[in-house]
Amino acid sequence: MQKFKRVVLKLSGEALAGNKGFGFDDDVIEEICISIKQLHLLGVEIAIVVGGGNFWRGRSGTTIDRASSDNIGMLGTVMNGLRVQGSLEEMGLDTRLMTAIDMKEVAEPYIRRRAVRHLEKGRIVIFSAGTGLPYFSTDTTASLRALEIGADVILLGKTGTDGIYDKDPNIFDDAVKYDKLTYKEILQQEIKIMDTTATSLAMDNKMPLIAFGIDDPKNMVRIFNEEDPMGTIVKEKF
Ligand code: UDP
Repeated sequence: MQKFKRVVLKLSGEALAGNKGFGFDDDVIEEICISIKQLHLLGVEIAIVVGGGNFWRGRSGTTIDRASSDNIGMLGTVMNGLRVQGSLEEMGLDTRLMTAIDMKEVAEPYIRRRAVRHLEKGRIVIFSAGTGLPYFSTDTTASLRALEIGADVILLGKTGTDGIYDKDPNIFDDAVKYDKLTYKEILQQEIKIMDTTATSLAMDNKMPLIAFGIDDPKNMVRIFNEEDPMGTIVKEKF
């Protein structure tokens, strides 16, 4: 039985940089794309939202205004989109890169109905340039696009962890992993999984999310293949 037909996969910039912490780690990106291909071969419709933290985050720009800094961040996500698209195409997959900021020479502008059509035709769609608006994040983009395209779930690839814990598992040995959480619990306990805008948008519109460990990209395939809960499932209510 297929669990989810259409998914939004959130790939942070950090995930694409691997241990380098900046730019691209070609081997890591290759591994991630192999798993994306496996998901695709399972018949899952995949839309990817790419982050940009491996290049720039709006809040890094302390000597320029925030909106300009965020624009730099959004352009970074386009570089990531092009990089992921390149690898997926090398693997023989049909893809479309869409940008929320017009740059037609590089990629298609984001048009919701066109994105849905691409997915229906079996193309992997990559959403870049976030929402196109400063002060937002690519996590919020993932919530927004998932709702817009009628995705069944957001797959949130986390680095340095394999799900959501009550405290940082890299610091505390007794950290306990949650199998299930509600969005309300995340907001009330201030659990840092996505920013509050992204969390509220998903909660208000009942969009489920699975946080999984992207350090082993095969985990994204395990979500579909294994009975045991992989990572942490987040819903509005259970
Ligand atoms: N960004 C933005 N609006 C958006 C999405 C992203 O201004 O709708 C900017 C923001 O500055 C952010 C940067 O792009 O810090 C990179 O995105 P993000 O930090 O979400 O990337 P990730 O942490 O997932 O790699």
